[in-house]
Amino acid sequence: LIEVRDVGKVFANGVVGLKQVSMTVRRGEVVCIIGPSGSGKSTLLRTLNALETITSGEIQVLGQSVHGGKANLNRLRTHVGMVFQSFNLFPHKTALENLMLAPRVVGKVATSELRERCQALLAKVGLADKADAHPAQLSGGQQQRVAIARALAMQPDIMLFDEPTSALDPEKVNEVLDVMKVLAREGMTMCVVTHEMGFARAVADRVVFMEAGEIVYEDRPEPFFEAPRSERLKAFLGQVL
Ligand code: ATP
Ligand code: MG
Repeated sequence: LIEVRDVGKVFANGVVGLKQVSMTVRRGEVVCIIGPSGSGKSTLLRTLNALETITSGEIQVLGQSVHGGKANLNRLRTHVGMVFQSFNLFPHKTALENLMLAPRVVGKVATSELRERCQALLAKVGLADKADAHPAQLSGGQQQRVAIARALAMQPDIMLFDEPTSALDPEKVNEVLDVMKVLAREGMTMCVVTHEMGFARAVADRVVFMEAGEIVYEDRPEPFFEAPRSERLKAFLGQVL
């Protein structure tokens, strides 16, 4: 579903964001990306739906080249949902309106049908009773769950998460991770940048370790965390676990 081949990224100021990164994500897989600050995790994730350009290499998503001149970015982004650390909800719209906005712009679906679908998504993330609440009336964990439901409202094939729980109070982290676990169990294809090692271990099919713009190591969670064959990863895990 996602094919990243030898991708390099140099920012305008000369900073190297990515070096020769290659990665494959198959349908239904959950891939967690971990690594120190500044290692290129967000940059990699953002190149997948062309929020960031690349300098070399190629990325295919759903069989389409993402960074060619012919890439249809609007179409791509309807298939690839993204959730950020900051929830980015529209403050003057209710939770339900936040969900309905993008599908209404893109889609041909009738408003009543869309409203039902969005209401069901709010129920799915445990917020059936918050449809009419504005973001400011919701906790951080609730806002992030609305943001996830909003991404799902586009019925994406792939969901990208960039540290979705990093801005949350510790007691709100699990309510968001639980929603993500359900999604994973349902077979959603997911790329998750996270510092939640417990989540990566429990949910990921593969874990990728980045350092200095490179994928240094990747493996299934068990060997990744139990017996990493990489000194750099060992050192990193020693710091964070
Ligand atoms: P964090 O864990 O702190 O979120 P990260 O792994 O997501 O870190 P990136 O945000 O991908 O790291 O950044 C990778 C490198 O690229 C860093 O050195 C960063 O300073 C640099 N960088 C990121 N965005 C830009 C930009 N727009 N212009 C120039 N340099 C950038
Ligand atoms: Mg980041």
